[in-house]
Amino acid sequence: MSSRNENTEKKIIIVGAGIAAIAAARELYKGHDHHFDLKILEASHRAGGRVLSTVTDGIPVDLGATFIHGTTNENVIYELAKQFGQVSGSGDWRPMWNESTMSVMLTNGELVPNETVIECWDKFLTLADEGQAVLDSETPLWANQYNDMYTFLAAEYPTLLGKDSCTMEVLKSHYYRGLFKCLIKFQAVVEGDTECRSTAIQGKFYDLPGIRDYRFGSGYSFGCFVKKLLEDLPKDTILYGREVVSINTESNPTTVKCKNGDQFEADHVIVTIPLGVLKRRCLDENLISNESPLFVPPLPVEKLKAIRELGFGCMGKMTLKFDQEITTKCKFNPLLILWRQEDEDDPIIKQKFPWATEFVQLERIYNSNLYETWMDASMITSIENASDDEIAGAFSYILGKMFQHPVPKPVGVYRHGWSSDPLFYGAYTADLAGVDTSACISTLEQPLYDNRLLFAGEATSVDFYSTIHGAYWTGIREASRIKQTM
Ligand SMILES: Cc1cc2nc3c(=O)[nH]c(=O)nc-3n(C[C@H](O)[C@H](O)[C@H](O)COP(=O)(O)OP(=O)(O)OC[C@H]3O[C@@H](n4cnc5c(N)ncnc54)[C@H](O)[C@@H]3O)c2cc1C
Repeated sequence: MSSRNENTEKKIIIVGAGIAAIAAARELYKGHDHHFDLKILEASHRAGGRVLSTVTDGIPVDLGATFIHGTTNENVIYELAKQFGQVSGSGDWRPMWNESTMSVMLTNGELVPNETVIECWDKFLTLADEGQAVLDSETPLWANQYNDMYTFLAAEYPTLLGKDSCTMEVLKSHYYRGLFKCLIKFQAVVEGDTECRSTAIQGKFYDLPGIRDYRFGSGYSFGCFVKKLLEDLPKDTILYGREVVSINTESNPTTVKCKNGDQFEADHVIVTIPLGVLKRRCLDENLISNESPLFVPPLPVEKLKAIRELGFGCMGKMTLKFDQEITTKCKFNPLLILWRQEDEDDPIIKQKFPWATEFVQLERIYNSNLYETWMDASMITSIENASDDEIAGAFSYILGKMFQHPVPKPVGVYRHGWSSDPLFYGAYTADLAGVDTSACISTLEQPLYDNRLLFAGEATSVDFYSTIHGAYWTGIREASRIKQTM
């Protein structure tokens, strides 16, 4: 099978059908007389990639990207969402976590004053931001003292709390341990890390102005957003079930082969597959014996080095459906869970679901019977291996123990195994301590062979890696590069 069409001037293949690919295709079609033949080859049977939504009880639930980071006209995603009429309400997620809606509870059911926790949390975030400033200044002293975010925060946070008589009390309190664990886990989720043990101080995806974490209003999700984006693409642009196994630039035009035997020729190939897959399919040490590398010839050494050095982190989101609202004395937006050592040592938890002690938050979605929780990288493998029933049992046990009354098992568990999915092998690019992330990304994004092979996707955005807007812009960038050659 060949995609050559006698009337087309150029043949363009985009590998992967995530946000970057869709953006590239939209940009190519925009204001152009379409003298090209464009196909997007997607391994799975759906578009969106790390945007993945499901609908339950009529409510869209995002299992991948959820937030728009930055809500001004500088953010292309926010602007498009506005055009699509998908922006409603304030959408500002963080302030929703205020004293009147959130509860902070120790695992024995004891409530901790919200006001104090919010103050401590603000200080924690300020410290993380300060850490970034120090990191950016490249002070060697800092680099020698703290190798990673965890070490920095563990050392500096008590000092910061101790400066203030109010928060000094927290430092001395019986819940400090649980609180610090909770805050670290939140930060680790953002960075796609395990307890912030390997990442540098802060990722760089909060740079855009406006609301920092905008959540689509009730009735909308990133899945709805992708659906709208796709409406502007000609039907049949995306070919599903086409896992690309070889991109051969030795021939001209380039030959792109799929696992199902389909073969395409292209003047330009834009590769948007996730960094996790590039690591797996390009680095000799990760190839399974007899498996050929994705690129023929192999990518240049400096590109392989960038792929090797860049971090690709993991986190997960999970939504639990109960058959009724969970009733208890406390509110749920969110419920922060502070683990006590003795509850982590509970024999039932230790024996049946030791991974459950890593859950530190639960949030009710839109006053429904759906509750969302997040996972940092430390628990991803165990959770991906656990059955829905085990997860439901763990939550019923832990919440029942905290609330001191039986909590029924959730009737639905919605999640996606991003780290084990061979089309992703993780969640997003992570800023590893000791790695010059910007330099690596700058290398990765460079086109090769006179623009015959181009690279897009979140991992190729120097400023906004790991985000939806970053991915989108890289698609526009590479499409523009091709347009300049037409
Ligand atoms: C759990 C989670 C939560 C997130 N939360 C947020 C958030 O709140 N806000 C935010 O801005 N960002 C968030 N992100 C990050 C955001 O989702 C990504 O940065 C963005 O979606 C990446 O888009 P992309 O086009 O670069 O790659 P992808 O969306 O990964 O698209 C790549 C596509 O390539 C396909 N593919 C893989 N291998 C092959 C192959 N060999 N042949 C053909 N096709 C292939 C994949 O199936 C996929 O469809 C989150 C990500 C995850 C996983």
